[in-house]
Amino acid sequence: MSELSAESVRGEVRAWLEANWDPDRGLVEWRNMLAESGWGVPAWPKRWFGREMEEALVPVVQEEFDRIGAVGVAKTGIRTLAAATLLAHGTEMQKEKFLRRILTGEDTWCQLFSEPGSGSDLAGATTRADFDGAHWIVNGQKVWTTSAHHAQYGLLLARTNWDVPKHKGLSYFVLGIEQPGVEVRPLKQMNGHASFNQVFFTDAKIAPEFLVGEEGEGWKVAMTTLMHERRGADGTRRWAMGSNAKGRIYDEERAEIETQLEPYKWYPQRAGRVDLVVERAQETGRNADPVVRQEIARLLIMSRAAEWTARRARAAQERGRPQGPEGSLGKLASSNVARQARHVHTLITGTDSMLSGPDSPRDGTVAEILVSVPATSIAGGTDEIQRNIISERVLGMPKEPRFDTDRPFREVPRNIVDS
Ligand SMILES: Cc1cc2nc3c(=O)[nH]c(=O)nc-3n(C[C@H](O)[C@H](O)[C@H](O)COP(=O)(O)OP(=O)(O)OC[C@H]3O[C@@H](n4cnc5c(N)ncnc54)[C@H](O)[C@@H]3O)c2cc1C
Repeated sequence: MSELSAESVRGEVRAWLEANWDPDRGLVEWRNMLAESGWGVPAWPKRWFGREMEEALVPVVQEEFDRIGAVGVAKTGIRTLAAATLLAHGTEMQKEKFLRRILTGEDTWCQLFSEPGSGSDLAGATTRADFDGAHWIVNGQKVWTTSAHHAQYGLLLARTNWDVPKHKGLSYFVLGIEQPGVEVRPLKQMNGHASFNQVFFTDAKIAPEFLVGEEGEGWKVAMTTLMHERRGADGTRRWAMGSNAKGRIYDEERAEIETQLEPYKWYPQRAGRVDLVVERAQETGRNADPVVRQEIARLLIMSRAAEWTARRARAAQERGRPQGPEGSLGKLASSNVARQARHVHTLITGTDSMLSGPDSPRDGTVAEILVSVPATSIAGGTDEIQRNIISERVLGMPKEPRFDTDRPFREVPRNIVDS
């Protein structure tokens, strides 16, 4: 990063914020201003609300926002995956229609990938989309769909051709959730939250212009979504945390966190809350125990190393290297960090870790960490799948034996009668 350009960016963003930031503006009004100015997503193309700024300089912009507590564009949830996917594969019309409202937070998105019979084996999806001459008609079922109960749009992977091998018969769509033929049923998790859903499609419709990429190219488009999802799990992500500050914009942001972003409330706990560990050790006096100190040190080493590895991978991408398997390495590291953090929290808090409710340690946060951490090694592709990717694509080890990729999907034995 050149010092000169970092300082000039800092000066420019600071001047712009001084002239424009006002906590009494409306949230959507402010985010529209961010979109217009390019300061909301400075690394994005100029044509689409950005400034084409090198990624390495983006933290400088963020620091200036943080310095005065300025609110940013909407970044939490699947909307960031939708934006990345549409920027890479969307048509002009799709970018025009969706990107701005993603940034303002007016639209919420969900990811309609996993199915009861295909999670890790995503290419085995059997939800179907058939073209009737005017529309794609969708039938089938998805599951684990975070946020579908708040969403206006879904990123849908569906089978459009059963007569080619499984990866080649998939297409990628933007599906309107609030339409007849789409039924969203919430599921309750063991941590008490209900962020996932089952989603059922019965003759749901998609207009042809909402196909993303070409028909049959859904796998390629889905890989873009997943690479961004895994990259986002690499330890550099920030979750929406409401500020206590006064002003209309903060009130509206708190309301957004309570409603639309409610499914993500437990996500910091799912990552293990490394940030709480030292504080908890000090407040309980467990920092005097050499075993606890050793485990804390181990956690902090793992966590910092994972973060620096992620930053190094990003820096390499900025120098023109395409996004590669680093996402899988980072995702696996985040699972290890979360598990070690859970272990350390348990060492510090002891059996009280199991208590929830207002009298429990940190109002039940420790208990929530315990039951939320397992999600990290499942969401966005399990640890075993990340290990397979690393062994095959990074280390060049032999591929898993496959019986289902060399024949039309229709002929692949399955345990569900669906075609
Ligand atoms: C917090 C969270 C949020 C999620 N949000 C969404 C969402 O919004 N949208 C969405 O579409 N999905 C979502 N998912 C689903 C997630 O992507 C799937 O759960 C995940 O891909 C695993 O699929 P599965 O649950 O069907 O497990 P399975 O694929 O049935 O796997 C079961 C077990 O078998 C192992 N396994 C499977 N195949 C192999 C193999 N080839 N080699 C070695 N081991 C293997 C797995 O690692 C796992 O331990 C979410 C999951 C979580 C936990």
